[in-house]
This record gives sequence, C-alpha cells and structure tokens, in this order.
Amino acid sequence: MGRNFFVGGNFKLNPTTRAAKQALVKTLNEATVDPSVEVVIAPPALYVIPLRASLRADFKVAAQNCYEKSSGAFTGEISPEQLVDAEISHVILGHSERRTLFHETSEQVAAKTRAAISAGLSVILCVGETDKEREAGQTKQVVESQLQPVIQVLNEADWSKVVIAYEPVWAIGTGKVATSAQAQEAHADIRAFLSSQVSPSVAENTRIIYGGSVNAGNCKELAAQKDVDGFLVGGASLKPEFIDIINAKK
Ligand code: PEP
Repeated sequence: MGRNFFVGGNFKLNPTTRAAKQALVKTLNEATVDPSVEVVIAPPALYVIPLRASLRADFKVAAQNCYEKSSGAFTGEISPEQLVDAEISHVILGHSERRTLFHETSEQVAAKTRAAISAGLSVILCVGETDKEREAGQTKQVVESQLQPVIQVLNEADWSKVVIAYEPVWAIGTGKVATSAQAQEAHADIRAFLSSQVSPSVAENTRIIYGGSVNAGNCKELAAQKDVDGFLVGGASLKPEFIDIINAKK
C-alpha cells in the first residue's frame, strides 16, 4: 500500500465571519489540484456542517478537536459520534495549542484517539517538541512519550485510520520552519518507533506529515523528503498559496 500525499488545512479560530469563510471555500472549490492528494480542511467547530455542505466533494472535512465520550453532561464538548453523524470524516487531536493552552495530556489525547477511531473517524494525531526540548536534545524522547499512550490503546488495524502530524512547537505560527533535514530526521525516527512498537507494516504504511510554518516557498523541498508524506498547514491554509502547498509534489 502506498502512502498517498496528505495535506490538511487547520483554520484554527479563523475566520471570524461566515462571509470570509465562504470566500475561502470559493478559492478551494475553484482550484486545480493534484487529484492524488488527500485534502482535509479543519474549520472551527461551528462551521463543520456548512463547510461539508459547500466544499467540493473530493476534499474532506475535519474537526479541530473532539471529546472522548459519546454523549452526556459535558458542556461545550462535541463527540466523535456527533461528528460521524454530521458526515465529518476526520478530527485533529493533540494539537500543540490544545496541549499547551488547554492542558491536554498525552493520555487524554490517547483516550480521544481511541474514541474517535471507535466511532469511525480518522485522526490527525499531532506530536512535537518545544524549542527548549529540542535544544536539550530531547526531541525523540518527547515525541515518543506523546506517541506511547496512543500506541497502548490502538490495535494494529486502527493505524490505517491515523495520520501522524509532526509539528515542532517552535515552528507553529512562528515563520520558523524546520529544515528539510530536521523534518526528515524526526519523521524517520517516528517511523522507526512505530516499527519497533507496533509493526514494520504499520510503520511503512502510516503517513507522517509535517506542520509548522509551511508555505508556498518551502513546501517543495520538504515534500521531497522520503519520510514526509504531506503537511498540516495553519496560517497559509487561509491564503491562496494553500493551493501551491497541496500541489507541492507536482
Ligand atoms: C498548525 O496550526 O497546525 C500549523 C502548522 O500552523 P502554521 O502553519 O501556521 O505554523
């Protein structure tokens, strides 16, 4: 099984008006893109249903988060079952902004991943180190500690529903992109970890995408790395250059 290129657009808490959201959808719907690329757009929760209704059918829609319970007294949360019922196929889990600003632990991220896959969603699972951790030579250790709780709760077959996003925290929204060598090294380490902790076939088939200040200018070199299977894009997913990023392999 090949690892087809995967590009996610994480709108974060943008845009602030429905009119601006519709303008973004228009740009996406009119774009000419490489048909072999899997494209997934993650708008704010409020917009997942209207986006699914108005977005071109060949692009998928993701939520930016979900809860691990299906229903109940959890004010403000959205469940995996509700997303599936709304015909949403993907969810981003463990984004660094959730881990830092909302104090999500790797164990919670693992519980959410388990629940999301059990409900029928695919998961974009984010991992990555801070600048201090990289400077201390702890990148591999940090990423493995974020992956380990997820590995504990998934079966081998579940991994076909996971895309791992390696997103160094120091590169997210900073304009400071990882070099292609840094990205390749981290991705190869993740693949080796999957091989030893899950199976060689899961390691071979799981897509590992890079996120952190990807733009039209740096995407081609990153995309050329052997273990870089796509991108998770924040800021640039709100701009027309997102189309160039989708077409980075062309
Ligand atoms: C992200 O939010 O996942 C991200 C990678 O952001 P940016 O592209 O803006 O660095």
